[in-house]
Amino acid sequence: MDSAFETINKIIGSPIWMLSLYIFAFCVAVLWLALVFWTFKDARKRIEDPIIVGVAVLTSLVLPYMGTLVYAILRPAEYLAETRERELEVRAMEQELQIMRACPSCGEAIRPDYVACPSCRRPLRSACPVCERVLEPNWKLCPYCGHDPRARRVPPPTEEPTEAWTAQQQPTG
Ligand SMILES: [Zn+2]
Ligand SMILES: [Zn+2]
Repeated sequence: MDSAFETINKIIGSPIWMLSLYIFAFCVAVLWLALVFWTFKDARKRIEDPIIVGVAVLTSLVLPYMGTLVYAILRPAEYLAETRERELEVRAMEQELQIMRACPSCGEAIRPDYVACPSCRRPLRSACPVCERVLEPNWKLCPYCGHDPRARRVPPPTEEPTEAWTAQQQPTG
């Protein structure tokens, strides 16, 4: 029993033991400070109020590990950038709703991409028969897929018909 106690005492007193203890303490301290820094970086991205950010950083500094854990549980789920992005999206949607026109027949609100009035069945615009996207009334062809409603009747110009055409035109001219 005595020899075992002596061995433990010897190990504790040895410089290698002291060195490993210092290294361990150093690692614990580095990890703690890294967590404080992480809390600061993360809180700045998620919390707008600098006082709350300060409280979060201070908590993780005063309560090593525990403070960071508490912050990680209580922090807002969304980044500020995401929140702003969502607000912009909502605003864009609101603007789109304001752009909504009224049906010329029944006055029902019409979204810009409606083909027909859902209320009175009045056709408002045509859709491309190929890609089914909504076409403006003044468009000659579908700008999305290139479908031309008159393309079947007038073939696209190739080199051969042009030559034949000039050959025909030369004797007359
Ligand atoms: Zn209508
Ligand atoms: Zn199309």
